[in-house]
Amino acid sequence: MNLNGKICIVTGAARGIGAEIAKRYVQSGAKVAIADLALESAEKTAADLTRMGPGEAIGVAMNVTDEAAVNGGVQAVVDTWGGVDVLVSNAGIQIVHELQDFPYDDWKKLLSIHLNGAFLTTKACLPYMYKAGSGTVILMGSVHSKEASPLKAAYVTAKHGLLGLARVIAKEGAAHGVRANVICPGFVKTPLVEKQIPEQARELGISEEEVVNRIMLGGTVDKEFTTVEDVAEIAHLFAAFPTNALTGQSIIVSHGWFME
Ligand code: NAD
Repeated sequence: MNLNGKICIVTGAARGIGAEIAKRYVQSGAKVAIADLALESAEKTAADLTRMGPGEAIGVAMNVTDEAAVNGGVQAVVDTWGGVDVLVSNAGIQIVHELQDFPYDDWKKLLSIHLNGAFLTTKACLPYMYKAGSGTVILMGSVHSKEASPLKAAYVTAKHGLLGLARVIAKEGAAHGVRANVICPGFVKTPLVEKQIPEQARELGISEEEVVNRIMLGGTVDKEFTTVEDVAEIAHLFAAFPTNALTGQSIIVSHGWFME
């Protein structure tokens, strides 16, 4: 299975999990648009990946919560390469607070990036996929699509919501050869998680070591972080799967933290 010549958009891919997915796709022969708020880093990541090959990458400025920016970014990809075969809606943030102290602005910001971002990017890509009669939408969920944790009301709500969105995309998209799936990673040591370690320690009144060993890795079968490479491999499987049998599903990659 490879992605030879496939045109892919990965949001939030200037760094972290998204950057590794973009790398895996370029290694598999894809043309990858790295769509991120941070255009300079997106362009740098794209240049590094293009040097590596055999596929190629470009950086695209995109705030996934801004409809005009999303439509403009997707249009730029279509103008460059002629269509969109794969969308990975990956851009995301984390904000932790106890529910009774959760600032409404933080709640709205988080939901907007995860849910409005997935909705707007999917809506912008579907017409091109429908026209081609094929396509794949991959939404970046989390173990928190299936499980709850204290301090994460907004994140857990958003990540659960993405499962519903993917299932609707799968049902509506089937007639057009479009499938949709969700990746549900456990904790991966990216800037998003590094930032949370001191924040959770402060909110919960425990040490940073305890946050890592008990809160983040306590439920895994081997006390190991999931890696960006692990997640990218699932993203590759969903994108390159040869038939439409694999749709409306979610795969948990979390060292057994959550099992179903
Ligand atoms: P990260 O902070 O390393 O990277 C996130 C990227 O998203 C950054 O490049 C940032 O510029 C971009 N971004 C943020 N807001 C944006 C916006 N409005 N528009 C466009 N781009 C925007 O995070 P990560 O850990 O790589 O997380 C990526 C995804 O994986 C997120 O959806 C996150 O919820 C999910 N996830 C992460 C983990 C983990 O442990 N790191 C676990 C499960 C799921």
